[in-house]
This record gives sequence, structure tokens and C-alpha cells, in this order.
Amino acid sequence: MFKERLSCCPLCKSRDISFKYEILSYSNKFTTDICKSCGFIFMNPQFDDETIKSFYSEQYYSGKSDYSYIDERGIKKYSSYVWDSRLKIIRKFAKGGNFLDVGCAFGGFLERASKWYSPFGIEISDYAATHAKKIFGDNIHHGTIFNHPFQAESFSVITMIELIEHLSDPKKAIEECYKLLKKDGLLLIQTANMDGLQAKSAGPRYEYFMPGHLSYFSKKNLCKLLRSVGFSYIKVFQPVEFGLLPKLLKSRGSFKSFKDYKAWIRIATYHYKSKIHCGDFALTSSMVVYAIK
Ligand SMILES: [Zn+2]
Repeated sequence: MFKERLSCCPLCKSRDISFKYEILSYSNKFTTDICKSCGFIFMNPQFDDETIKSFYSEQYYSGKSDYSYIDERGIKKYSSYVWDSRLKIIRKFAKGGNFLDVGCAFGGFLERASKWYSPFGIEISDYAATHAKKIFGDNIHHGTIFNHPFQAESFSVITMIELIEHLSDPKKAIEECYKLLKKDGLLLIQTANMDGLQAKSAGPRYEYFMPGHLSYFSKKNLCKLLRSVGFSYIKVFQPVEFGLLPKLLKSRGSFKSFKDYKAWIRIATYHYKSKIHCGDFALTSSMVVYAIK
């Protein structure tokens, strides 16, 4: 179930690592360590590949496992508000070309992107990849960023939306994305910023600590990694690169009655709290990073 314990940081290879948290909220319990040198937090020991693959079965998308993800197909109309707003910003950096969504799930975001780009996807889940392949055929690779068939320097845009935290070797994944991008190509990464007060104050109860998440970045160490790999321009958006309205419209997808609109107060408060940040300090832990090759 677990691999051997890591003796050094997967990001900077420092051996100065120590215990951070024990996560007990799931049936798959695990512990995390922190690197004293770069602040990277990582699961240690890590689940083996078989255990990780077992997480992404149909149960992952149907909410039947204790660690699950919303099946986007039921709320596609609502998710499209966020996808379209994101694509509007992406198009400021790359107007067209090949577009790769790593961790594309059922391909909902790619469907919207296909209006301007040639869509490609990578998806580890057999269940989700089978569905995405019905739409995009062989443009979907059922596998990972480490065993894909794509050619170097062939993409204008690569997106990793809430994906990088699922990887045991995120450094290698970013290096791979760099290789796959054309010059001036864009890499978009959305993940949590563990330096945010939200994550720090919640400690082991922070919602991002879940069995499928192996890697926990901060704004500082993610930007440092991107620069070390060779990206020339990096821009960080907190909480996200688009405004509040698309998020409010998307949230309606899970509303059951008029009373659910109360959630808008919470979503708006969170959005504006996330605007309070300075340097490495941030009130919340949401971030989106745009990196140009
Ligand atoms: Zn480190």
C-alpha cells in the first residue's frame, strides 16, 4: 500500500526534512513531512501506484468513496461559466494552437477550449478517460504526463488544474510540460498555497489534505521551481485569474433550493478575503500560476 519512506525532499533534494502532520480524516490515513530548506510539504511514505490508481475509479466521481470528486458532467452548463472566463484570460497569452489539459477528467474544459484550440488530454482514470475518448478519440491519452505519446514543443497551452498536488514527482512533471511547450507557450497551474493563513491555521484539518494529494506547494517554492526549470515569465493570481461572478454562477449547479443562495455570501467573502495578500503572506490558500516558456 505504501512505498518506502523518502529520505529527501522530492523538490529540492534536501535531506533536512521533518514530520509535519498526520492526516486521520480518511480510511486511508497518511503522514506528511516538510522540507526545512524549501518549505515543500509531501506525503511520506507515499501510497504506491496501485493504491493511487484505485482512488480514481467510478466511485471517485460518484461520491461513493470517502475521497471523491464532483462528476462535472451533471453540472457542465454551470462549470462552463468558470471554464469560459478562464479561456478568455488564457487567450490573452495564446490565441490558438494545440491545447493540453493534464488531468482532463471527462473533457468538459477541453470541449470549451476546442472553440479556439486543438484539444488534447491526459487522464489517469480509466472511467473518465473512456468517456473523454468518446469525444476526442486518440487525442486523449489514458495514462500520465510521464508516459504520453506527444511530441516536444508541440503545445501552445498546457493546463494542470488541481492536478499537480496528485503527483509524487511534480518537479519531473513541470520539466515535462516545459519540454512539451512551444517557445512562448503557457503553463497554467492551479493548486493550494500552503503558506496561506487558511492552510496554516487549519493545520492537519485543512481540506486539501486528502489521500490523493501527495504534494503541497507554497507560492514561493512553486515559483522558484518554475524559474529553475526555465520559465521566463511567471504571474500568480490570488485567488484565481477571473472574477467572482463566474464562481457564483457555477455554484448554482449544486443548489437544490432557493435557500442555497445563502452560499453566495460565503463564496463572495472568501473571494474578497483572497485579495488580501502581500509577498509571501496571503489570507487564503487559493492560487493560480501562469508561467510562460
Ligand atoms: Zn525542499
